Amino acid sequence: MLKPRLFDIVLIGAGPAGCACAYQLAESGLTVAIIEKNIFPRDKICGDALSADVVNQLYRMNTNLAEAFLKRNPKQVSKGVRFFAPNNKSLDIHFTNPKHKEAVGFVMKRLNFDAFFVEQLMNVSNVSVFENHKAIQINHQGESVVVKTDKATFQAKMIIGADGANSIVNRKLSNNKIDKKHHSGGVRQYFENVKWNDAHGLIELHFYKEIIPGYFWIFPLPENQANVGLGMLSSEISKQNINLKQKFTELIENHPNLKSRFKNAKPLETIKGFGLPLGSKKKQLSGDHFLLLGDAANLIDPFTGEGIGNAIRSGRIAAEHIKKAFKERRFDADFNKKYDTNIYQAMWNELRVSKSLQNLLKISMAF
Ligand SMILES: Cc1cc2nc3c(=O)[nH]c(=O)nc-3n(C[C@H](O)[C@H](O)[C@H](O)COP(=O)(O)OP(=O)(O)OC[C@H]3O[C@@H](n4cnc5c(N)ncnc54)[C@H](O)[C@@H]3O)c2cc1C
Repeated sequence: MLKPRLFDIVLIGAGPAGCACAYQLAESGLTVAIIEKNIFPRDKICGDALSADVVNQLYRMNTNLAEAFLKRNPKQVSKGVRFFAPNNKSLDIHFTNPKHKEAVGFVMKRLNFDAFFVEQLMNVSNVSVFENHKAIQINHQGESVVVKTDKATFQAKMIIGADGANSIVNRKLSNNKIDKKHHSGGVRQYFENVKWNDAHGLIELHFYKEIIPGYFWIFPLPENQANVGLGMLSSEISKQNINLKQKFTELIENHPNLKSRFKNAKPLETIKGFGLPLGSKKKQLSGDHFLLLGDAANLIDPFTGEGIGNAIRSGRIAAEHIKKAFKERRFDADFNKKYDTNIYQAMWNELRVSKSLQNLLKISMAF
């Protein structure tokens, strides 16, 4: 058997959480391997909405990183959100970013955003990116963890699960189980030529009784394209036996608020679905020699479905924890519990408010 490749840290997943963590570990003197099953640029099923918080997180990491992102295209500036009630009445809320006025919100395909982030790691000397490596096995071995991919074996003191909603790190090392009350299903389809009621450039959230808690969205993209999708709480999907792809098509083809807007629209792909682990319930975020980040740690806002900002935030917090762990030579579950505390200190208040909004929406739609 080939000898394992030795690193201080093995990070699984090069999405926003993994990239942020690796980026924040630059110049730490620690060797980092990022294992990613895809090759960039790669698609990720998402609404592609990048809130001002995402840009602020990039600024918190490094001004050059944030400014490189602001210069990067294609992306669509989004100055706010338009909420639609079932009767098609709408309410506009305009975003402001007191810290960075030019950085409000954006819609950028994850194909482009994630590739941008990974590119930023290519010149970080202590980080090695292993694309096209799927982690298939993880085991504790003495005072380290061994990760097998379909191509090689890696060994490290710390393993970081930044591997998204179906995280293998979460499944193999934690006691967490999927709870459908704290999980949503989502579908997405890119379109061209959706009709806009006016040139508002806002992201649109449409609330309909039959998909509560959840919403239908239309997010504008450059070149007359749009990211269109539908997300709904998984426990309701099961309870009402809803086929989300079918419901999505039904709404587009038949709903009076949408029908005419999609009459001349052309789908650019088949409808694609993926899960959203919501941060409406606390869970185990760490243990002996491991931490969970981003979607692997259920950090998606339960009301808006946004997870990219918190994924990056968790990457930043994880990196600071990892630096301390190596300084104190502590990788045990007791020490790593501080990471859970830090994450919820930074995010729980906002996640709790969003959970209440999700409940409120359910109640208000019942009348
Ligand atoms: C339909 C939908 C719409 C959404 N809309 C929005 C939105 O508009 N705005 C927003 O902020 N958030 C949105 N989200 C949430 C957002 O997509 C996630 O919160 C975000 O991608 C989390 O980042 P992450 O880095 O934790 O995980 P991911 O972005 O999922 O990245 C995980 C990475 O790990 C890799 N990986 C997985 N398993 C393995 C393995 N075994 N071995 C190696 N690599 C592996 C994957 O290939 C991937 O690159 C949406 C989600 C869905 C499903």
